[in-house]
Amino acid sequence: MQQLAFIPPAASPVRRQYLTLKQQHPGAILFFQLGDFFETFEDDARLVAEVCDVALTSREMGRGERLPMAGVPVHAAETYVGRLVERGYHIAICQQMEDPAAASARGGASIVRREVTRVITPGTLVDPALLSAARSNYLAALVVENRGVGIAYADVSTGEFACAQIDGAEAPALARAELWRIQASEHLLATDDAGGELLPTGASITADRALFGAADVERALSEHFRVATTAALGLAERPLAARAAAAILRYVQRTQSRAGVAIEQIRVYDVAGHMVLDPATRDHLEIARGARGRRDGSLLHCLDRTSTSMGARLLARWLGHPLLDRMSIEARLDSVQALVEQGRTRQELQALLARLPDLERLAGRAAQRIITPREALALAEGIETAAEVCGALTRAEPPLCDFASRVIAMPGIAAEIRATLVDDPPLGFGEGLIRIGREPELDELRSSSSSGRQLLVVLERRERERTGIKNLKVGYNRVFGYYLEAPISTLSQALDYYRQQESGAATVGELLDRLGYQRRQTLASVERFTTGELRDHEAQQARSTVRMAELERAAYEALVTSIAEVAPTLQATAAAVAELDVLAAFAQLAQERRYVRPEIVEAAVTEITGGRHPVVEAALGWDAFIPNDARLETWSAHENEMPADGRLGPQVALLTGPNMAGKTTYGRMVLMVCLMAQCGSFVPAERARLGLVDRIFLRSGAGDDIAGGQSTFMVEMTETAAILRAITPRSLAFFDEVGRGTSTYDGMAIARAIVEYLVRSSNGCRMIFSTHYHELADIAATWPAVTNFRMDVRETASQVAFTYRVLPGSADRSYGVHVARLAGLPAAVLARAAALLAELESGAQRQAATSGVAVQPAPAVVYDLAEVDVEHTTPIEALALLERLRAEARLALGAPADDPARPVTPPGG
Ligand code: ADP
Repeated sequence: MQQLAFIPPAASPVRRQYLTLKQQHPGAILFFQLGDFFETFEDDARLVAEVCDVALTSREMGRGERLPMAGVPVHAAETYVGRLVERGYHIAICQQMEDPAAASARGGASIVRREVTRVITPGTLVDPALLSAARSNYLAALVVENRGVGIAYADVSTGEFACAQIDGAEAPALARAELWRIQASEHLLATDDAGGELLPTGASITADRALFGAADVERALSEHFRVATTAALGLAERPLAARAAAAILRYVQRTQSRAGVAIEQIRVYDVAGHMVLDPATRDHLEIARGARGRRDGSLLHCLDRTSTSMGARLLARWLGHPLLDRMSIEARLDSVQALVEQGRTRQELQALLARLPDLERLAGRAAQRIITPREALALAEGIETAAEVCGALTRAEPPLCDFASRVIAMPGIAAEIRATLVDDPPLGFGEGLIRIGREPELDELRSSSSSGRQLLVVLERRERERTGIKNLKVGYNRVFGYYLEAPISTLSQALDYYRQQESGAATVGELLDRLGYQRRQTLASVERFTTGELRDHEAQQARSTVRMAELERAAYEALVTSIAEVAPTLQATAAAVAELDVLAAFAQLAQERRYVRPEIVEAAVTEITGGRHPVVEAALGWDAFIPNDARLETWSAHENEMPADGRLGPQVALLTGPNMAGKTTYGRMVLMVCLMAQCGSFVPAERARLGLVDRIFLRSGAGDDIAGGQSTFMVEMTETAAILRAITPRSLAFFDEVGRGTSTYDGMAIARAIVEYLVRSSNGCRMIFSTHYHELADIAATWPAVTNFRMDVRETASQVAFTYRVLPGSADRSYGVHVARLAGLPAAVLARAAALLAELESGAQRQAATSGVAVQPAPAVVYDLAEVDVEHTTPIEALALLERLRAEARLALGAPADDPARPVTPPGG
């Protein structure tokens, strides 16, 4: 809890004002406007000086107090605010609410009125310069109770707002997956530990219990959305979701104090209505971010053919949130197909879309009434283009023409914007922002101010004649206002001249008196004067400037009000356009890359013919990628309906092959094809028949989680455990070299146990299990639901080559030595390795021959013993080894390893 600033009784009025505002915004850096600068003081100043790299100075704040101070120019504040917000700081913008002249006009100790107009936080940014066009910027709120979890999130810049409640034992895991999907820039929690463990690593947290009060939730929501009860919003049965949503509204109201909340609708959704992607899978599958956390190399980057930033953001949302509802998927696929078939219409639409500004964010800014004149004009252009989009859609065939009703043409508002604002608007009010003919009083003032300018010309001419000074000029500056300026050297000439014209003036001083000139300023070579007439003119001018600014501001505000009124319609149009954009992008991609429409079925099958990995294919270039087939079926889901041919595909495809042979690429290809299909996209394959997948899991054996401080193996097992708990018969998993992070035998044992569990459990799912342990292939002999596949390897006398083709059957050996050669190990090492391999292989064959079990590898004990380096083993290590060997031996004999009390029964005994 931030300590409240103490206001010393002797503080000066400005200091008092500062401290009061600072107290009202604990935890925020206060940007305090002093003229052309936003100043920060004390601790804020030290921080701003450091983060923004500006000078730390100090300032007298009355009564002899000198305080550390750091300031940034008001006109450039955005950059600095951006830098601070990026670091997670909150900034309270405190602006001067009146002209300092007005305050001094009040006299006495009156100080300028100041107000905090907005608090800028990472999750509530609305400034286009601080936002990424291609990403939504979310604020999320989380309510965790033992019954379940409520999640709400909003993008304040577009007005998008959604909430969900997740109940049951799995709630924390699902909530975690959901929060990782959302990737909010800021998370609201009641306290730091109320759900913090569910957030993505490095998440920005704002903990504030006051936001989450259970009282008044109903009222806050129903008043905001103008409904009788929250039941009308679909929240009656979802109290936790409602509380999270209310927290968002309260926070947005608080931070956007003057701007208001531009959230018109709330979408209550069900997490179960979408495919679940757990955080690890999301990361490893590289959906939104590629290997090094960058956008390129990701699926999103590879598929992004959108023409608008709204579309780009929507595509990111769709890929992160695949559908689970067949009707909705088919509806998207129908549109994509139509856009493929009606290529001309698509191109016409895309050309129009490319001209659209960010309607969604502009509408958001209009609703918040912070839209600038330039943005209003961009909006007008956007509305006009949207009308053309609507026209093109109306002419299209079904189902595209159905979109037309969602893209709402609003010619009225665009015309109003154009009729109100000049084409190239100035930056300030009163400088000619409003078109002539809009506002009679404004026009009158303008013409009188231009006749005022005319007047100055006349005056100048007249005074030249009166004084005989040919280069007498009327000038203006901000300090002195209007003045007459004459070179000093000309004044005595003027005196002579004047004497000739009129009598009486003996000195220059007298002359000036007669002329009615007062000295204002003497510079090196010129003298400046003012006259009563000039002062009157100036006062008149000032009054009309103020009035013109007032009138322009009023006219602009009226315009903004009418735009704000249609903002919800604009947002709906923007949403429809974004959708159209993504669908058109899918269609374009389908055409460019020969993607096909997947057949979506209810059965628990995954059948892909000629499948390609979209990202690797794009990277390798045209036709370089080798396509492969896949067929997987969940056996337990077939209890009631057997396939027509009575034959089932494998439930688990056990894929063996050496490193670099293409196992990873193949497994990921299968997952990506399913994911793309459920987003409504065509897929990189010749043909695909896909059962809906409720969850996709990717468990990858690569990479230590060094930052997290866990060993590879620990991470691997933790993730594996979570996956095995979460799978259902409709899930699809790819376990890539699981067990690689530990010793060979541990690894093989764990891998075997996982596969067995999967085919035995009634919750078992479809799975590809890749391994370079060719010894695992014998699992298939025991379990009919497991089928062996191998990566094709072409061998010559000295080396191996990969064809990247997946073939039936298992690899008969590991080729590790060959791969080591490919990697450039020294020849001596390779030769020794080859010899050892030959020895081991013949040993294993002998062992197999004597045991009579053809494919059973030697018990782990034997290998472990063979590897012992007796000379370099300490007694303690020897004891530990003995203990392990004993445990393994007991296991091999079917006795519990950890229960020494139970004796081992000798075979036949
Ligand atoms: P593994 O998982 O077996 O070690 P990878 O899947 O990582 O192998 O593949 C290694 C490399 O081989 C990839 O980076 C890719 O360039 C290439 N590759 C893999 N599969 C294919 C394919 N089907 N067609 C063309 N190249 C492929």
